[in-house]
Amino acid sequence: MTETVLLTGVTGFIAKRIALDLLNAGYAVRGSLRSIKRADEVRDAVRPHIKDPVSLDHLSFVELDLTHDGGWDEAMIGISAVLHTASPFPMTQPKSDEDLIRPAVDGALRALRAARNAGVTRIILTSSMAAVMNKELAQGATVNEADWTDVNHPTATAYDKSKTLAEKAAWDFVADHPEMRLTTVNPGLVAGIPLDVKYGTSLGLIERFFLGSDPAVPDFGLPLVDVIDVSAMHLEALKRPETAGKRYCASAGFIAAPEIARILKEAYPNRKIATRVAPKWLLRILALMDPSVRSVLPTLGRLLEVDASRATTEMEIDFIPVRDSILASASYIASVKQA
Ligand code: NDP
Repeated sequence: MTETVLLTGVTGFIAKRIALDLLNAGYAVRGSLRSIKRADEVRDAVRPHIKDPVSLDHLSFVELDLTHDGGWDEAMIGISAVLHTASPFPMTQPKSDEDLIRPAVDGALRALRAARNAGVTRIILTSSMAAVMNKELAQGATVNEADWTDVNHPTATAYDKSKTLAEKAAWDFVADHPEMRLTTVNPGLVAGIPLDVKYGTSLGLIERFFLGSDPAVPDFGLPLVDVIDVSAMHLEALKRPETAGKRYCASAGFIAAPEIARILKEAYPNRKIATRVAPKWLLRILALMDPSVRSVLPTLGRLLEVDASRATTEMEIDFIPVRDSILASASYIASVKQA
């Protein structure tokens, strides 16, 4: 019998890829979205890549909101596992941290409670490196699954707090209900080729550099990983019961933003791509007006390393190199947007 999994936030950049991979792997997918009106958008995104057209019949939809109870219990009927990806991921930080924290934390707990009520004990949660690496660290330090973001640290944004507190709430829930088997996947910035133009915040940074939106590049760094690998990790977690109880960092490498710009400029020398590093004083002034600049200020000049070897050894993930993912994103953006 075909196994059915609930995939929350199926309209998302990452979840659309997970839906595709699940269908191609023979699972039935019940995708949650906020409005059923977007079901065709998801079908259209996955259809061109489906190996067997019949498997598209195994994609169904259910309306769920992270901030409302309605529908969660019904959504769990006949489900063998939940892949909970839904969480707000806006381009800029909100006025109040709670605008992100509440949907992230309450949504994760709604998913876990409803699953438990229905006897669904297997949960894969899409957390983030944002829940791992924003803490007091020496320059060049290596982080791994043992690290947790300090939500009171100056580098912790509202988004970082939302991901950290949601993941913590999930682990606390599981500690109180030991029958629940939780795995978290903690990706860095996810790049690569999206399935459609609704690629959300994730490719926003590469797009901004690629389209020459700024005269210079802020000197912050981040771990980067391809959406193909992130999706593969969700499926590996599902297939491997021994991954329960563990976090898995998803990163092909830590890269500085100016290096991303250089990779783009080298591949597209005729495009207006800025590679000059923006001076800190200028960023401080810009930050007064632009919240997206404000959110990178605390991490300027910080270089870290991520040890994602747990994913390599326990899930057999052979991470796509960061350069390839960046150029894959750029090539997609070039095909859909004018400079
Ligand atoms: P998207 O913004 O593309 O997807 C987010 C999904 O969450 C969408 O389906 C969105 O629905 C849904 N969502 C947001 N708020 C609510 C709500 N109140 N109720 C129901 N659904 C909601 O982002 P990504 O695909 O990039 O991210 C998916 C997950 O991966 C998130 O948990 C994110 O934190 C995590 N992540 C992403 C990274 C990245 O670089 N992309 C890095 C690390 C972690 P709608 O379409 O209706 O807005």
